[in-house]
Amino acid sequence: MSPATGKAAIQGPRVLLKRLRELMAEALEPQDRLDRIVREIAQNMVAEVCSLYVLRADSVLELYATEGLNPGSVHLAQLRLGEGLVGTIAASARALNLSDAQNHPAFAYLPETGEEIYHSFLGVPVLRAGRTLGVLVVQNRTMRQYREEEIEALETIAMVIAEMVASGELSRLTRPGLELDLSRPVTFEGMAFNDGIGLGHVVLHEPRVVVTNLFNEDSDAELERLEDALGSLRLSIDDMLSRREIAFDGEHREVLEAYRMFANDRGWGRRLEEAVRNGLTAEAAVEKVQSDMRARMLHMTDPYLRERMSDFDDLANRLLRLLVGQGPDGLADTLPRDAVVVARSMGAAELLDYPRERLRGLVLEEGALTSHVVIVARAIGIPVTGQMIGAVSMSENGDPIIIDGDEGVVHLRPQPDVEAAYAEKVKFRARRQELYRELRDKPAETLDGVTIDLMMNAGLAVDLPQLDESGAVGIGLFRTELQFMVAATFPRAEAQEKLYREVIRAAGDRPVTFRTIDIGGDKVLPYFKGTGPEENPALGWRAIRLALDRPALLRTQFRALLKASGGRELKLMLPMVTEISEISEARDLLEREVRHLSRFAAHLPTRVKLGAMIEVPNLLWQLDELMEAVDFVSVGSNDLFQFVAATDRGNTRLADRFDPISVPFMRLLRQIARAGDAAGTPVTLCGELAGRPLSALALFGAGYRAISMSPASIGPVKAMLRELHWGQVTERVGQLLDGRATDCELRAELQKFAADNQIPL
Ligand code: PEP
Ligand code: MG
Repeated sequence: MSPATGKAAIQGPRVLLKRLRELMAEALEPQDRLDRIVREIAQNMVAEVCSLYVLRADSVLELYATEGLNPGSVHLAQLRLGEGLVGTIAASARALNLSDAQNHPAFAYLPETGEEIYHSFLGVPVLRAGRTLGVLVVQNRTMRQYREEEIEALETIAMVIAEMVASGELSRLTRPGLELDLSRPVTFEGMAFNDGIGLGHVVLHEPRVVVTNLFNEDSDAELERLEDALGSLRLSIDDMLSRREIAFDGEHREVLEAYRMFANDRGWGRRLEEAVRNGLTAEAAVEKVQSDMRARMLHMTDPYLRERMSDFDDLANRLLRLLVGQGPDGLADTLPRDAVVVARSMGAAELLDYPRERLRGLVLEEGALTSHVVIVARAIGIPVTGQMIGAVSMSENGDPIIIDGDEGVVHLRPQPDVEAAYAEKVKFRARRQELYRELRDKPAETLDGVTIDLMMNAGLAVDLPQLDESGAVGIGLFRTELQFMVAATFPRAEAQEKLYREVIRAAGDRPVTFRTIDIGGDKVLPYFKGTGPEENPALGWRAIRLALDRPALLRTQFRALLKASGGRELKLMLPMVTEISEISEARDLLEREVRHLSRFAAHLPTRVKLGAMIEVPNLLWQLDELMEAVDFVSVGSNDLFQFVAATDRGNTRLADRFDPISVPFMRLLRQIARAGDAAGTPVTLCGELAGRPLSALALFGAGYRAISMSPASIGPVKAMLRELHWGQVTERVGQLLDGRATDCELRAELQKFAADNQIPL
């Protein structure tokens, strides 16, 4: 671009943007305003035609205003998404600049508009947050190629129009029965991370800054603001990078390094400056550059590039917040009572900043079952879905939304019938919940008087209120590693002790079984390097193996547990035991800690019981020895089944392939229960199997009288067991397990048994 043409182009949009600002401020009817806007654009750009097409919810682009085309065709001329030049621009989110439009293969002739006399054509998408809302076009009779600056100018104007569309003003021009695309219902399908259904309103975790001040008065002053903000942004990233907790290698650092690279990216800076020179405020410039980029990247499938785009998005949002001086707090005051938080990803601690009573669900664009935020969301019992690609950019704060955590589906701006169906589901659940609440203080006793211990699994302080709410008789599994997983660095001894004290206080006289840290495998600590990547982490350096190799870690935990349990019984359990010698080694370390503490006259537990988890098949051939070596055992059926059936527990493809409610696996579980009975060693089970009524029924039949599950499962399991005869169940399950395994569809047989005996599943 020569300096001379550059100068001319800079004048153009500035004058036009000023005129647009005046038009926006005037009290005009929406159609009037639009008509005058397109007239101004046409005049300013020396074009004979300027038209605005708006995208409707039915994927049709409707002509909303025109200068130059037949006025009678307004609201009549239509093109489908992808059809004609206008449809192509909308579908690709890219500008088209043609000197001879009619010769373009996509050209579609709309006779009602009278556009056949115009040759040159420039169309740009009307974008907001990467979404196409419409198309803005200028046309001329002569065959001419529009200049780069003209494209830039029209894109800037399109952004102003996007704000107008988003403001809702245009919906008044929409014919009855039709809707704009902006308010279109959208369904996302991804992964189900936590059960439950939530109806509510969108809360964007990083609220998109709504840019209201679009035009600058003084470009030079505005450029200075932009430079200042960019400077602060760069500083804040450097600052984050130098902080101690991320002074390691790893993902966190990589992301920040990428941020730093982008924040110093020349191209980005240049585009921002150009937009400011064209008359936008710094924040409007950020929004524009980001929107263009996002729309272009939307069609990319390369996961690396998409990821980088998300980084850019985050960065742009940070920059916007710096420019408008909006901090992350103050959110709670404006939070709706039924908030469904929508985020790309999020830290666990950030979720805890939201008041629990207002949260109805969490929708993540990323996330995995083992992400920390997902673990915490499960602990506080809200529905969670993940891998909801596009959810953030399609949502606006306050949009109605339904999250279905059972199916991994999200309905944004749902149709009334979808909403009604879900409202019915929620009511049904609430009625069942009411029923379970009534059962809370009733004994977990079968019709023939056998009492079962229903305990709950926990791992964080947020779990503790559930102890009273669920009616659990104790905590059968406290996963101590969760504290480590949600922290940014290794929790110090004091922090560990504090949590354990809290747990014990909440439990009162109910027993708690603390499991020593079970990290490794799928439970990764970002700040702990370990041995580096493993080929088979599930079979790798994890749990008790790791803890015995890092005795300082285990001893610190033992000490914290011993101190927190002063004056009461402490139950300790070791995860992933493979050999009995591991139990003796751990016991030695434990005894050393007891001796150490007693030397300082610490308040010690009245008794320490040491148990082992049965998760590794190797223990199955030394059950008698195992039962003698410990005070109790608990079956970790999640891992045990994973190893027995050679089936990765996190692999969704295999999730339903092999059924643990099958003769071989149940025979094995029965064998463990029998070995415990014979040795007088208590046996419990604390994997997911305990939490579903049908599998719990199978476990009772196999001899289990104590099981531990997520708190939400206690109601349904209790409702089931209060309707059965223990004697009948053990007899029936015994028959089935003693028959030929290949002749028995155990699950189906048990379902039939339950139906015949009116046992609610
Ligand atoms: C199990 O493996 O069944 C278990 C309870 O432990 P976790 O799910 O924490 O691995
Ligand atoms: Mg396990």
